[in-house]
Amino acid sequence: MSEDLGRRAELAANLGDVRSRIATACGAAGRRPQDVTLIAVTKTWPTADCVHLRELGVVDLAENRDREARQKAQQTLGVVGAVRWHFVGQLQTNKARSVASYASVVQSVDRAALVTALSQGAVRAERVVQVLVQVSLGADGDPHRGGADPHLLPELADQVESADGLVLGGLMAVAPLGDDPLPAFTRLAELGGALVRQHPQATMLSAGMSGDLEAAILAGATHVRVGTALLGPRAAVLG
Ligand SMILES: *Cc1c(COP(=O)(O)O)cnc(C)c1O
Repeated sequence: MSEDLGRRAELAANLGDVRSRIATACGAAGRRPQDVTLIAVTKTWPTADCVHLRELGVVDLAENRDREARQKAQQTLGVVGAVRWHFVGQLQTNKARSVASYASVVQSVDRAALVTALSQGAVRAERVVQVLVQVSLGADGDPHRGGADPHLLPELADQVESADGLVLGGLMAVAPLGDDPLPAFTRLAELGGALVRQHPQATMLSAGMSGDLEAAILAGATHVRVGTALLGPRAAVLG
């Protein structure tokens, strides 16, 4: 078996495992597996892995750095079926225009300046970009993981809604390190419930990664972002 076929078989097996974890978690939560979208976080892995995953049926892929994301978006264009690229990393305003040129969803929007910059980028690219507001769920904020303080949510959501080229999709969060993730994800779902009352289409809740996707699904996540469990451990330096 060639190296490439070996890798593809490995990814297919991991994908099967992750899909069955999602199905089991949905069963326990009384939810339907088709109501939870799997997003493969391909950061640090080669474009060939993105192609394998897309061919194995994963449409949603995520990256956290603009340069790497843009390259992969270009390299997969026309090679595989359409990919829905999600941007999930902390984003500088000066990279927003680039990200708006290829991302379908930007999940890490946590401040007003970024909304303005993404809107300008989307308009320039003649695209519509879906935006998730990233919420900080740490006790006193968590500067390393990013995210807006929950009390800023209503204002940021209104700003996204009124920005040209942007559509408000919902909320994203990363569970605080070390704690039981369920209370944090439950808090996120409550914030999402309040958001939906003001913005009925903003139903996405992006929560849960390789280590805590079950808790996220129990709390109501509509999207889980899985890297390690699909692709293997990343080189530590590249995070
Ligand atoms: C890397 C990353 C993930 C995936 O994490 P794993 O633990 O490898 O599944 C999910 N969300 C964000 C924002 C990430 O940066």
